[in-house]
Amino acid sequence: MTGSVPITMAPTAAATLDLRPLSSPLLSAQPGVVHGITRRQPGLGAADANMSYTAPRDIEDAWRVRQRWCAAIGVDPDRLVTTGQIHSNGVLRVRAGQAGAGARPGAARAGVADALITNEPGVVLLSMHADCLPILLVDPVSPAVGVVHAGWRGTVANVAGAAIAALTAEFGTDPGRVLAYLGPAIAADCYEVGADVAESWAGRVGVANAHHGLRSSGSRWTFDLSAANSRLLLEAGVHPRHIDHSGICTRCGGADWFSHRGQGPATGRFGAIIALTG
Ligand SMILES: [Zn+2]
Repeated sequence: MTGSVPITMAPTAAATLDLRPLSSPLLSAQPGVVHGITRRQPGLGAADANMSYTAPRDIEDAWRVRQRWCAAIGVDPDRLVTTGQIHSNGVLRVRAGQAGAGARPGAARAGVADALITNEPGVVLLSMHADCLPILLVDPVSPAVGVVHAGWRGTVANVAGAAIAALTAEFGTDPGRVLAYLGPAIAADCYEVGADVAESWAGRVGVANAHHGLRSSGSRWTFDLSAANSRLLLEAGVHPRHIDHSGICTRCGGADWFSHRGQGPATGRFGAIIALTG
């Protein structure tokens, strides 16, 4: 470690930054759960508050940023858990003994998965995003939480449905009681996709239901990650009143959000964080 001084941040600039993670009113009303979505924050650290350690990003800078955001959200950065995200439908149940996996620079991640679930307090789940949709999940009855990373491949693979099924299998979760928050993602108007995506989505939900997420005008297809994943959550048994949407487009809102399409592949990543407080 490089010591306690945030060497890339001038104290005056850091002091004036207003670190306010995005949160869901629906989830914020739940006792025993803490959550937040970090933002792109120009001037914070060397890369505008990037959370990711993946090359070519500055790992030590990202660790300082993680600590700042964790303080703002009220979780312990040394109990963060991350995975290798591969646009799959893989779900990982995270145990208390895995808290800290992938947290600090050099710490091995908890494996490879695009959804993480836990029912153990103090395990801080983190997924990272730049256009791909973050979904935060809460079972308020049999307390458990989850986080999902859903780009188009993960959506077509139904990672959201897999996460709900895993909550049920591992913790006895009733999907009808699950609360879901769909955070910032690239919106349909900004997300043109190819026929392969259109066909894959129709293959997942059926041609008659493909309009839940897929739009066409002429030969052009666009894909709405939030609408598509809402559809998948409903199919998994989540109640429509239990789904909250941020309504934020990462590409349009590029000043505040990292966007792969808007800023290129080397841009940073924002984090979706959730934990049980016990
Ligand atoms: Zn947009």
